[in-house]
Amino acid sequence: MKKLKKLYEGKAKIVYQTEDPSKVILEFKDEASAFDGIKRASIKGKGALNNEISSLIFQILNAKGIKTHFIRKLSEKEMLVWKADRFNVEVVVRNLSAGSFAKRYGVKEGTPFKKPLVEFFYKNDELHDPMVCQDHVELLGLAPVEFLPHMKETALKVNSVLKDLLEGKGLILVDFKLEFGTLPDGSLAVVDEISPDSMRVWDKETGEKLDKDRFRFDLGDLLEGYKKILDRIST
Ligand code: UDP
Repeated sequence: MKKLKKLYEGKAKIVYQTEDPSKVILEFKDEASAFDGIKRASIKGKGALNNEISSLIFQILNAKGIKTHFIRKLSEKEMLVWKADRFNVEVVVRNLSAGSFAKRYGVKEGTPFKKPLVEFFYKNDELHDPMVCQDHVELLGLAPVEFLPHMKETALKVNSVLKDLLEGKGLILVDFKLEFGTLPDGSLAVVDEISPDSMRVWDKETGEKLDKDRFRFDLGDLLEGYKKILDRIST
């Protein structure tokens, strides 16, 4: 599948048009960013790792009947996906307290939850991704509200699949972010990427943080953490 015009360039990925108007190519960049783009770095090899991890996870989800935009991995840094109308909402699922939840609600990092928590955020760096409720989503036109229950249900299904996958490999899935959109046939699908850039994963034995928090808080080599996740989930 040939790459045609660049349609969009974000912080971590570039979207290219293809000969087929219903399909686009995602190219993963070797760029890391955090704190709404304030902290940035170029990290050679990150794009390939995120493409590989994301492709693996999307394949597993597709096989479980969870609809995603993923079609196939094309090359080291590229995947072919269905073109989607992406919603301006980020859906976060949490199993343990961390990050903005720990800060906002004063719950110690690492505190496990009785059941997974699902939160919705307005995808907008300038506004620092404020948390939104269903009425905000409707009022601001961030996504068709009729999809919200299905998005929540899908996010919880993804959580259960990912949690089982990682737990079986000695890893803890702390939290992750999903994005949704509609495919050319109008159906709801998980879009974007699912990688250590968008989830928190800790080693069960040592508690070592293997995800983007390594970059956010200078905890250690980012690639080393991402490679550990990939090695565990691909064997
Ligand atoms: N996350 C993301 N993109 C964002 C915000 C959050 O991928 O714009 C992910 C983040 O990596 C973590 C989860 O969503 O795995 C929950 O993030 P949180 O709300 O705690 O925010 P953060 O600590 O990243 O500010």
